[in-house]
Amino acid sequence: MNNHYMIEECFFITPRNVGGRFGHVRKLGINELENRSDISYWFDDMSEPTCLFVSVNGNEPQKFDWEPVDITFGETAYIRCHCGYRARKLYLPPNGKEFKCRKCHKLQYQLTKFNRHSIAGRSLYKMNRLQKLADSRANIGRILYNGNYTKKFTRFLGLCDRAGLESIVRGAKDLKTLMNG
Ligand SMILES: [Zn+2]
Repeated sequence: MNNHYMIEECFFITPRNVGGRFGHVRKLGINELENRSDISYWFDDMSEPTCLFVSVNGNEPQKFDWEPVDITFGETAYIRCHCGYRARKLYLPPNGKEFKCRKCHKLQYQLTKFNRHSIAGRSLYKMNRLQKLADSRANIGRILYNGNYTKKFTRFLGLCDRAGLESIVRGAKDLKTLMNG
């Protein structure tokens, strides 16, 4: 049960970051993801795409059904996971080769994985509360990337610092030390 990755550690794609704004497919040919040049993707058809292909590290590409959805202003899309789930996000675990939905990868949130009575667990528990606050207030999303805090989260910590929320800032520092140590 403990060999599954945490959702916060995983890379993910969304219809938006492969399809551009409002899910419109604009890019021709084989594209690389911004920030992840090891991941390439392309569509079966530029004007009316029905399939998205994704290849990790030059491996055999995965083929996903691409399902555009009309919304009031413009268009969005779902990417259908191989299990049939219409996903808004498909995840790639660290060193993984396949994108799948959260359930297929059996991804857990950090909170359920750690013993909340351990020192790291207590910090994570606190951070989780903070993350919920952060998510709702500033739509910060992931707080971790490659074992480091994301830029957005770091900025948020700066705000906490200035707001006098020292315990949050200290908690974040301690947690990072625990994770990297
Ligand atoms: Zn799935």
